[in-house]
Amino acid sequence: MALIVHKYGGTSMGSTERIRNVAKRVAKWVRAGHQIVVVPSAMSGETNRLLGLAKELSDRANPRELDMIASTGEQVSVGLLSIALQAEGMDAVSYAGWQVPVKTDSSFTKARIESIDDKRVRADLAAGKVVVITGFQGVDPEGYITTLGRGGSDTSAVAIAAALKADECLIYTDVDGVYTTDPRVVPEARRLNAISFEEMLEMASLGSKVLQIRSVEFAGKYRVPTRVLSSFTPWDINLEEEAKSGTLISFEEDENMEQAVVSGIAFNRDEAKITVVGVPDTPGIAYQILGKVAEANIDVDVIIQNVSHDGKTDFSFTVHRNDYAKTVELLEKQVLPTLGAAKVVGDTKICKVSIVGIGMRSHAGIAATMFKTLSDESINIQMITTSEIKTSVVIDEKYMELAVRALHKAFGLEGKAAA
Ligand code: ADP
Ligand code: ASP
Ligand code: MG
Repeated sequence: MALIVHKYGGTSMGSTERIRNVAKRVAKWVRAGHQIVVVPSAMSGETNRLLGLAKELSDRANPRELDMIASTGEQVSVGLLSIALQAEGMDAVSYAGWQVPVKTDSSFTKARIESIDDKRVRADLAAGKVVVITGFQGVDPEGYITTLGRGGSDTSAVAIAAALKADECLIYTDVDGVYTTDPRVVPEARRLNAISFEEMLEMASLGSKVLQIRSVEFAGKYRVPTRVLSSFTPWDINLEEEAKSGTLISFEEDENMEQAVVSGIAFNRDEAKITVVGVPDTPGIAYQILGKVAEANIDVDVIIQNVSHDGKTDFSFTVHRNDYAKTVELLEKQVLPTLGAAKVVGDTKICKVSIVGIGMRSHAGIAATMFKTLSDESINIQMITTSEIKTSVVIDEKYMELAVRALHKAFGLEGKAAA
């Protein structure tokens, strides 16, 4: 008997028919003798619909209220899934985050999980129940409902698995594992049987939305065996086969790993570029600009400072598109007047494309191959950033698909799905 956490994403929960399938799959695992905690997302499109309603009323909605609204999608899901499980003859019980409780900080819309009380869940499991817990949400020290950021149900599931010291966390989704790149953009993308934790962390942080980055961080910190697999296989497939399917996040570098130099390509269309033009090239400039941005709780990603001409330089960086307008306004009002810079210009139509692989540590020339591939396609690189196991470039958004496909090919990632 094992204790296993199952997570089902929005598409997997997208209709009552699909919810019934989820219930049948969970019931199969319970009948095989396992203790199961299920963490579902809201039905597909529901979180967008809910946040859309709020946006119709205000562009500057209070984040606390946004969380109050967005969290209801998952509350509906746990209730429906419990009913479906009960219809399958299971003894199931649903909980909202605050009832467990899943305790978070008070950063509404992007809260971090601080602790999870496992008492209630353990008692239910010991009593033979299937426990269904909302993804994406928690409760702050004031008792206010918080949400964990888009895609946050992955994080709920892995964190709950960590708190319960579960044997495994199975992330069921609408693709059958982690691919060399998003299979919706590159149909030739190949599924990986295993991906190293470090590579998965980079892929997630660089924009692969198959797992929310914090879920990967939790998996690493608490060594939670985590697997991404399909919820669209027939629910009654052989359990042992299902348990080995998909992609395992591996903590051992050589176990089961393929030996590619570049393992995957990630892309991110959520960023915008901002340039402060005509900045005096003197010490402390980066701090004067980015210090103000940090004070406003805005995350900065890629940063570039150009060489100066006549004592003036340009300073560029990227932020999340949601923070773009706020950042430009802040720079114009608070930074330009004291800095004596000429102006602030921005571009929201950019994207960041990254190659990721632990093999890059020991191979020279990988970045050069990336630059040559883009140059052969006449794609202009606006910014570059590298670390030990990744190289990212910022390019015009309209070349994103072309760039990803060309790089996928150049690094030999194409091939048929792994067995
Ligand atoms: P869920 O609703 O189950 O959480 P998501 O839409 O959040 O599902 O994540 C799954 C999606 O992630 C896939 O449908 C796929 O388009 C996308 N994706 C992006 N990069 C990758 C990748 N490298 N491998 C697999 N899927 C990816
Ligand atoms: N329902 C939330 C979202 O759409 C959380 C999740 O799906 O993981 O972002
Ligand atoms: Mg998701």
